Amino acid sequence: MLQNLLTNNTYSLYIHIPFCSSKCDYCDFYSIPMNIDSTNDKETINACLNAIILDIQKQIEYFDVNYIPTIYIGGGSPSILSLKQIASFLYDLLKILPSRPIEWTIEINPESATKDFLEICKNYGVNRISAGIQTFSKQSRDAVHRNGTIENIYKNIECISKIYGRNFSLDVITGLPFSTKEQIKSDLKIILDFEPEHISLYDLTIEEDTTLFFNILKNKSLLPKKEYAEMLWILGRDILISKGYFQYEVSNFAFDKNNVYNKLKNLNYSSLIKDKKAQKNGFCLHNMRYWFMENWLGAGPSAGGAALFSRTNTSTENNNYGMIYNCVDNVFSYIKHVTNNTFPQYCVTENISKKNLIKETIFMGFRTSFGPDAELFQKRFSCSLQDIIPNTINKWREKKLFYTEKTALTPQGLLFLNGFIRNAFEEIANLE
Ligand code: SF4
Repeated sequence: MLQNLLTNNTYSLYIHIPFCSSKCDYCDFYSIPMNIDSTNDKETINACLNAIILDIQKQIEYFDVNYIPTIYIGGGSPSILSLKQIASFLYDLLKILPSRPIEWTIEINPESATKDFLEICKNYGVNRISAGIQTFSKQSRDAVHRNGTIENIYKNIECISKIYGRNFSLDVITGLPFSTKEQIKSDLKIILDFEPEHISLYDLTIEEDTTLFFNILKNKSLLPKKEYAEMLWILGRDILISKGYFQYEVSNFAFDKNNVYNKLKNLNYSSLIKDKKAQKNGFCLHNMRYWFMENWLGAGPSAGGAALFSRTNTSTENNNYGMIYNCVDNVFSYIKHVTNNTFPQYCVTENISKKNLIKETIFMGFRTSFGPDAELFQKRFSCSLQDIIPNTINKWREKKLFYTEKTALTPQGLLFLNGFIRNAFEEIANLE
């Protein structure tokens, strides 16, 4: 079954539930604050959930999808939905899926997810939880208007681990206002005590047009200095690695229970997805499909999808290697357009050329500690990465930031990912 992941009517599914209880200052996702007790907001959420189901149905038909290996329900905060809303949404979704996924994640906000909510998800087949913790520091949370009391978050992680065992992921952000070494150590200690299979460790990114961006313009000392923030992230990374987590992507760490992945220097994506151990070692298969440029459907306001080498709309003879698309990013337009139009009329679409797909493959694949997959690359472009960017690879190998056994950056090299990508793009600038 896992081998089917490489066929072209296999698509993963990302679902965007664009509602939150309030807006965090650093957030640039499309999400709108909702009051779940208000009748109007409840109706809008219900209409949006119905439109999402219709949208998925249209996309499955359009791309002739026969297998969906992974589903990720993100947002927004899907855990803002009432018990009735989540149950009926999952029920409707199951009715239209061509197959049961092997990995099914729902993102939750630990202050809003209740035991009942988590149990309903599990009963419908969700087998993985991703919870945005960010930090246990009240001072840092308050400074960016991140909801939730420490007691509640703690209690809800306990609940997740009771219901889902170790099949959950916790997100931590370093470099928030008032972030310190002691705070990072303390955040990770609490998190590690829960033994999650997966941890995402992000260095805060300041996105333009967010509230945090404008607050920083007014008060430059709000955030720790860049060098200090970088040091905090590296401290966090080193703690996770020392506790048996394998950094398989720039910001993502999977618990390597048998201590095998660090030793497999030439491990690649194709062999990993055929390896049943991968699932037991906490990798997020869904995100791996993005990083290796596999196909996925994106449903919900602002959700994006990719259909590469799709039977419906690809002809490599015309330098058309597939389509990427984004659904309209406004709840009300989304509901209206999905109801009245066919897919992809309610999306912004773009055909992707060979050169752009190679660039995207390099950009995404080198985020991982496997590097872009050699087998897939050869299959798609009839050449190897070594043929395309030999000078960049040699240069970074000489700097000892690139593995000799495989085409991937070392953990130290990942710290300079942007510089590597710049070199690679310069080298392929004249590619036809
Ligand atoms: S909870 Fe998540 S999606 Fe919602 S505003 Fe905060 S960061 Fe954005």
